[in-house]
Amino acid sequence: MATAEVGDDVYGEDPTVNALEAEIAERFGHEAALFTPTGSMANQIAVQLLVPPASELLCDADAHVVTYEIGAAAAYGGISTRTWPVAGGDLDVDAVAAMIRPDGFYAVPTRAVAVEQTHNRAGGAVIPLDTLRALRAAAGAAGVGLHCDGARIWHAHVADRVPLPDYGGLCDTVSVCLSKGLGAPVGSLVISSAERIDRARWIRKRMGGGMRQAGILAAAGQYALRHHVDRLAEDHARAARLAAALAPSGVVAGPVRTNIVPLDLTKAPLDAPGFGAAARAEGVLVSVLGPRAARLVTHLDVDDAGIDRAIEVLPALLSR
Ligand SMILES: *Cc1c(COP(=O)(O)O)cnc(C)c1O
Repeated sequence: MATAEVGDDVYGEDPTVNALEAEIAERFGHEAALFTPTGSMANQIAVQLLVPPASELLCDADAHVVTYEIGAAAAYGGISTRTWPVAGGDLDVDAVAAMIRPDGFYAVPTRAVAVEQTHNRAGGAVIPLDTLRALRAAAGAAGVGLHCDGARIWHAHVADRVPLPDYGGLCDTVSVCLSKGLGAPVGSLVISSAERIDRARWIRKRMGGGMRQAGILAAAGQYALRHHVDRLAEDHARAARLAAALAPSGVVAGPVRTNIVPLDLTKAPLDAPGFGAAARAEGVLVSVLGPRAARLVTHLDVDDAGIDRAIEVLPALLSR
């Protein structure tokens, strides 16, 4: 980062940002990509590329785009959202296809479908490639776009051994984060055709996301791509070990596919905030999602000794 060559990225003159964008586009088999400060901005640019104002986006009721992006599709894009029931990786393609509404003067037309790979609130669930293929076919037949919120797509790629161009080729737009599992401090990208990314550049500037010497951040992303993708398998193995150790406590909510261990504390002696505070006091950080819901996430900064410590601390708190 300290030695990155930089320029003014608003003018397209930052060589490190340009190289990162080209590399990401190529990795996903698309023509172009655009660096953004956050994954939320990358998603919102993608959604605005695919869905014109007064049209709708379909997505899962627990999707990041409708849960954590503060109404941005409506506020910035004049876009309606309609959701299907929370499904995580078990996407019912026929049910989604049946929701797609055609053009007409009397109803909001559907213009795109968004999926999340892996699914954050569904505990890192992976959508199987065949399901995505079926969804692509249904979206194509209905003439609507497909966006993949791929903040954690690296985990799906590693867990299911699916080449990135297989995901890229099925989607009109993909957003990816460098700042989650890949461990870079800042940055996301939106990936699509050259024509769409030209327009994305304009939308990004309008949203205040045009940055100047952003190459220092892009350099961290380049490092992460070289060194932190394959190692995600270690995070998955650690999450599986942690889940196995917690299984006797009866709190693990659903299968652990990637690096997230979702916890349902409904029958536990502590509620989620109490569990989180007690764990923190013992040096183990737990993410509290609701009164009885929490999750454990393994990542670059958690090593085997850290998992050993979590296994020492967490089951004991749950058996009191
Ligand atoms: C983290 C995340 C994002 C992007 O979040 P930012 O905090 O805006 O970078 C998008 N989608 C999913 C599924 C995420 O988990």
